Amino acid sequence: MYQAMKGSTHVLAPHEIAVTAIPEDERVWVPQAPNVWFRPLMLNTLQGQWCNLLRVRRAGVLSRHLHPSPVHGFVLKGSWRYLEHDWVATEGSYVFEPPGEIHTLVVPDDVPEMITFFNISGCMYYVDQDNKHVGFEDVFTKIDMCRKHYTEVGLGADYVDQFVR
Ligand code: FE
Repeated sequence: MYQAMKGSTHVLAPHEIAVTAIPEDERVWVPQAPNVWFRPLMLNTLQGQWCNLLRVRRAGVLSRHLHPSPVHGFVLKGSWRYLEHDWVATEGSYVFEPPGEIHTLVVPDDVPEMITFFNISGCMYYVDQDNKHVGFEDVFTKIDMCRKHYTEVGLGADYVDQFVR
């Protein structure tokens, strides 16, 4: 994971990541819920943070949740909204989710597919309609999901390692 950099005072530096964000190989998308997938880009185990693409197709729902830390999003394709708010994030939109903000992500009926880049710190803290805690995801559960999926589709459990720092 670490490389010595020749002629630099930076003796140890993690490898950079440079990948085509929207993959040609469908297997790179990790299923998360019916009609919801994520594509890992950077899984930061030292800071409990991750960057991924979220893909949601019609009728897909990302369950009601909050984050204890900030989240930044940029919409690459399609559009989506939160059931709790009346604005719509459209292609090219930037979205900031402040810590503690509770939301449920859905795509409008006339949108076949949305893809959004998210930079997520901390965790996804899932709550029910009464805001009672019902589950969570963090960078480690994300890595576990990737390993399981990449094993099942033949890419191999270690396929995810290229995104882990
Ligand atoms: Fe969120």
